[in-house]
Amino acid sequence: MTKFTDLNLNPKILKAIEEAGYETPTPIQAGAIPAAIEGKDVLGIAQTGTGKTASFTLPMIHMLARGRARARMPRSLVLCPTRELAAQVAENFDTYTKHLKLTKALLIGGVSFKEQDALIDKGVDVLIATPGRLLDHFERGKLLLTGVQIMVVDEADRMLDMGFIPDIERIFGLTPFTRQTLFFSATMAPEIERITNTFLSAPTRIEVARQATASENIAQGVVMFQASRKDREASEKRKTLRALIDAEGDACTNAIIFCNRKTDVDICAKSLNKYGYQAAPIHGDLDQSQRMKTLEDFRQGNLRFLVASDVAARGLDVPSVSHVFNFDVPGHAEDYVHRIGRTGRAGRSGKAFMICSKRDEKSLAAVEELINKEIPRVENPAKFDAAPAKPAARTPKSEAAKPKSGDRATRSKAPSQPRDKKQHNDNTSKVVGMGDHLPSFIALSFEERRAG
Ligand code: AMP
Repeated sequence: MTKFTDLNLNPKILKAIEEAGYETPTPIQAGAIPAAIEGKDVLGIAQTGTGKTASFTLPMIHMLARGRARARMPRSLVLCPTRELAAQVAENFDTYTKHLKLTKALLIGGVSFKEQDALIDKGVDVLIATPGRLLDHFERGKLLLTGVQIMVVDEADRMLDMGFIPDIERIFGLTPFTRQTLFFSATMAPEIERITNTFLSAPTRIEVARQATASENIAQGVVMFQASRKDREASEKRKTLRALIDAEGDACTNAIIFCNRKTDVDICAKSLNKYGYQAAPIHGDLDQSQRMKTLEDFRQGNLRFLVASDVAARGLDVPSVSHVFNFDVPGHAEDYVHRIGRTGRAGRSGKAFMICSKRDEKSLAAVEELINKEIPRVENPAKFDAAPAKPAARTPKSEAAKPKSGDRATRSKAPSQPRDKKQHNDNTSKVVGMGDHLPSFIALSFEERRAG
C-alpha cells in the first residue's frame, strides 16, 4: 500500500498531514499526487468523500513551496462551484500549509471586494474562487491570470449543472497555455468530456469507485409515505421526519436533512425548531455570513441538524455526520449519491433515510436504477390520526388563523389514536389536535416574506 512518505512530498507538508491525522493516502491521492508533482495534467473522476481535495491541494502546495507571488498575478487558481466548497478548499490549504509560508485569497460572492482586492494586490500564491466572482475581479482590472501555473477545476459536473461552463472556458482562455491543469468531476457528461479534451493535455486519468457502489458502510432505508388526508400531507411529512429522527435516538448525533426546494428547507428547519430539534437552514438565498456561521456551528457540533438544498450542500466537508435524511427524493438521481455520501465518510458507518411520496415514486425508481439496488422499505414510524375528508369550505387561510400553540411539550403529549394498517383509508375517526400545521407565512420564500 502506498504511504504518504512514498509520494515525494515536501517534509513540511508531510508534517502537516501527520498532524491532520491521516495515515495513508486515499486511492485518488495515491493516483493524482505523483502525476501532478511530475507536472502532468490530471483528470480525476471522483466524488467528495474520497479525499479528492487533498489530492490537488497537496501537490499544489508542494510545487508552490518554491518561488514567490507577484502583485496581482496569482500563481495558481482553484475554481469551485459554490462558496462553501471554495471556503472549504481554503481551509484545506490552511491545514496543509501550516509549516510553509504561502499566501492565499478567497474570491467568493458575499464578501467585500475591498478586502479581496488588497490581498490580490499584495500577490497570492493560491487564488480560490467561484467562476462568477473571479470574472468580476478580472473585469474590474484588478487581476491578471497570466501568471497562473496550476489551475484546478473542482466539481466540474456541478459547474455544468449550474451553467458555469462558459465562464470556465473563458477563464481557461485567460490563463497561459503552458499551465498545468488538474480537473475533477464526479461524472463525465459529454460536455465535460469536451472541455477536458479541449483544455487538458494528455492527462493522467484517475477514476475512483463511484460512491454509490463504494458506500456499503451506509445503511439505507426509504419510507413510502402516504398522508392520511391530502391537506395534511405537508405536516405529516414533517412528522414522519421527526419520527425517523426519534427512532434513531442517540445514534443520531447529527444529521443533514435534504429538501428539493429552498422554501421547504426553510419550512423544515423552522418546523424542527418549533418541536425542539435544533436545526438551521442552508441554501443559496441566505446571506453568505449566515451560511458560514451555520456551517461552522454544525461542524463544531453546536448545531445538530443542518437542513440543506443540494447546491448549498454540494461538497460540504462535515467529517462525522451520523445520518442523512432525504426529506424528498431528489429529482436528479445523481444527487442521491451525493447526499448520502455526506455520511459514512472516511470508513465510518452512516445511515441514510428517505421519505418518498406517491408523486416521487418515479424519481425513486431512477435512484434505484442508478445505484443498482433496491433501497430497503422501512415502515413509517410516525402515526397519523385518521381523519374525515377535508370539508370543502375550510381554506388554508382560515386554518392558519386558528390559535396555535408553539409549546412542544404540550403538543408532543397530544394523544394519538389507536391505529391499524388500514388507518390511511379510515375516514370515520375524529380530527384530533392541529398536527404540526405551520402558519402560511412561514411557507413563503424569503423574497415573498420580504415583499409582504
Ligand atoms: P474530500 O473528498 O476532499 O471532501 O475529503 C473527505 C474527508 O476525508 C475530509 O474530511 C478529509 O479531511 C478526509 N481525508 C482526506 N484525505 C484523507 C486521508 N488520506 N486519510 C484520512 N482522511 C482523509
